[in-house]
Amino acid sequence: MAATVPAILVRDLRKSYGGFQAVRGIDFEVAQGEVFGLLGPNGAGKTTTVEILEGYRNRDGGIVSVLGHDPERRLRDLRKRIGIVLQTSGMYRHVTVREALAHWARFYPHPRDVDEVLSLAGLDEKRDALARTLSGGQMRRLDFGLALVGDPELIFLDEPTTGFDPAARRAAWDVVRSLQELGKTVLITTHYLDEAQALCDRVAIIKEGRIVASGPPAELGASSSIYTVAWRSPESGTIESRQVDDPTALLHQLTSAALARGESIVDLSVTRPSLEDVYLELTTEPVADESEAEPSESESQEVADV
Ligand code: ATP
Repeated sequence: MAATVPAILVRDLRKSYGGFQAVRGIDFEVAQGEVFGLLGPNGAGKTTTVEILEGYRNRDGGIVSVLGHDPERRLRDLRKRIGIVLQTSGMYRHVTVREALAHWARFYPHPRDVDEVLSLAGLDEKRDALARTLSGGQMRRLDFGLALVGDPELIFLDEPTTGFDPAARRAAWDVVRSLQELGKTVLITTHYLDEAQALCDRVAIIKEGRIVASGPPAELGASSSIYTVAWRSPESGTIESRQVDDPTALLHQLTSAALARGESIVDLSVTRPSLEDVYLELTTEPVADESEAEPSESESQEVADV
């Protein structure tokens, strides 16, 4: 496949559960070798989108291409080229970690070396432990390992570090970074903005089934034209701050005043909104239009049996 063909292409994707529109016409592309994050509050439509891309769920409308194929066709060849870490798993309980990986590897034409995957997933010490004896975080590492062992080109990570302790999170981040170094494409959903900031080349923020912002995490904040300039006031001794479109004039004023007094400016900072600021601003605004009813139990539907 030519390098210019996106690994994932989504155009006007739509999905309803009964009368409830969970995904309301979203567009995005993920380039090959890119780590792309889908962010959004609970119920925003992230998992629905990812399940459609994985071929676990059918869409109602729009175009979806994953590694050049429509995932709805559930081609076996496509399944072998993608790796999936689901939100919950526990498929292997009664075998050892190494046996689980070795077993799963057999379904793929060109699997990675199982011992290498054990190391990548940080499971060297647990290789001979029964999967059911693993802690929650270790189980997630096994999920990672299972997603990697087939040496897929594209990896879906649905909230990969939920429930991890800080050390396990950092270890999981290292796994994602090593995937990136291997040239893999990664689509990650997460609630953790620091995770998105640390790992993702680009993110899309979803709210109520629509993408409300997208771009590199650093640029999402930077796209705001507002700078906050803060400094410690020499008169009151407290921190003062001002929001400005262009900080040049204010900085000039502050520095010349300080130089004239023969003093330094203390605690000076010039900041733009962080990804978290942008996220909170975008996802807590009320949405004006279309009040759809929540789906009823009976409308809960299909997860295709693949
Ligand atoms: P979370 O961050 O909580 O995992 P999400 O962004 O992944 O949320 P989805 O799981 O895609 O959100 O859900 C989007 C909306 O669709 C929610 O309102 C949810 O209740 C609804 N929904 C999801 N799956 C079904 C289903 N099988 N049947 C009916 N409604 C569903």
